[in-house]
Amino acid sequence: MRQPTVPPTAGLPLQLGDLWPSGAGSLAAQLAAWLGVEEVQLECSGTSALMVALRSLQVLSPGRSEVVAPAYTCPLVALAIAQCGLQLRLCDLRADALDMDPVCLQRLCSDRTLAVLPTHLCGRVADVDAALQCARAVGAYVIEDAAQALGARSDAASVGLKGDIGFFSLAVGKGLSTFEGGVLMAREPSMRAALHAAGAATRLSPWWELRRSIELLGYAMLYRPSGLRMAYGKPLQKSLSRGDWVEAAGDDFDDLIPQHRLGRWRQSVGAKALRRLAAFQQQTSTQAGLRIARLQACGLEVVQDAVPGAQGVWPVILLRMPSQQARDAVLRAHWGSGWGLSLPFVHVLPDYGRYDHVLGAARGDTVGQARDWAQRLLAISNSPWLDEARFVELAGHLRSVVQHA
Ligand SMILES: *Cc1c(COP(=O)(O)O)cnc(C)c1O
Repeated sequence: MRQPTVPPTAGLPLQLGDLWPSGAGSLAAQLAAWLGVEEVQLECSGTSALMVALRSLQVLSPGRSEVVAPAYTCPLVALAIAQCGLQLRLCDLRADALDMDPVCLQRLCSDRTLAVLPTHLCGRVADVDAALQCARAVGAYVIEDAAQALGARSDAASVGLKGDIGFFSLAVGKGLSTFEGGVLMAREPSMRAALHAAGAATRLSPWWELRRSIELLGYAMLYRPSGLRMAYGKPLQKSLSRGDWVEAAGDDFDDLIPQHRLGRWRQSVGAKALRRLAAFQQQTSTQAGLRIARLQACGLEVVQDAVPGAQGVWPVILLRMPSQQARDAVLRAHWGSGWGLSLPFVHVLPDYGRYDHVLGAARGDTVGQARDWAQRLLAISNSPWLDEARFVELAGHLRSVVQHA
């Protein structure tokens, strides 16, 4: 019998009842309550949320033109910064944590810096205090990129609140999903007012809303073990057979970021699914704890939360393999096998080539340590659909690769 295809991350599956268009209440109000904040602002994607955040800061600090982000992050971040007419600067990573190198960050920050973007990659909690220290010293703002970290906490509060602005993604694969969606939040009422003003011009687009609603229906039907072979496994195998890892990882983005409102029906689907998110994250967190212990017993290096007081979320379990060779050998053998292996991102931003036109001065920034992370990271899906038998088989395979490295 063929085994079901595991999705690359632990997304929250939808239920039939989520699709019924009533009785859900407001997604914004329920997300705010769930996160323990006064208010959140919904946007049509995480990238669009970042653009609204950047535009609000451009109004507050009109003379500043640069945004500092980690060199290993989602290419959409670079596209959003360029679409706002701002210049990206890339910060190298620390060797011992998936965080911006504070020395490198300090060197990049200047009176041109508008914002610094500490990024909670793959649910791991980033060191926002270090970013705040560098940003504050030059009068810049901090935007927490928590696209992959809805539900993660730091010092008992949601991530996204230490910085001036935080945003989450509601895209497929990032946990709670409205197919595409974004959430903005800010601790200070004055910053919330600035975000409100920057997002006020956004209108509902009937065409985008129809398209996204159909896509969300497709997600509801196919995001299950029986549907994922066709919806995810087959296209993945096709990309891999062409040797196109950028497409296989879903890193192939178009330049133009659409901006429109998140429609009512999709909001109500999200609001109903949100009721199950805490229990789902409890389950995936428990699963991650057991599996991390097993992987470590196999001699594998698991990336953990490096910040004290952090409680991340676990869409994937991230491994740092001993070498690029060992990592790539695992991917060549098993990326297409349906076990849920994947890459957070294939490259550091300057190594894609296809994003060079939005990098500008960032092409000259130092990215050596980030490149080393990009070459050695491997993500194992933490979806509950990766059953114990297959996980044990995968762990055994990884152990033999590491032993021979
Ligand atoms: C996915 C992602 C984004 C963009 O979010 P979308 O909702 O997909 O637009 C931004 N930053 C990071 C780190 C991401 O992973």
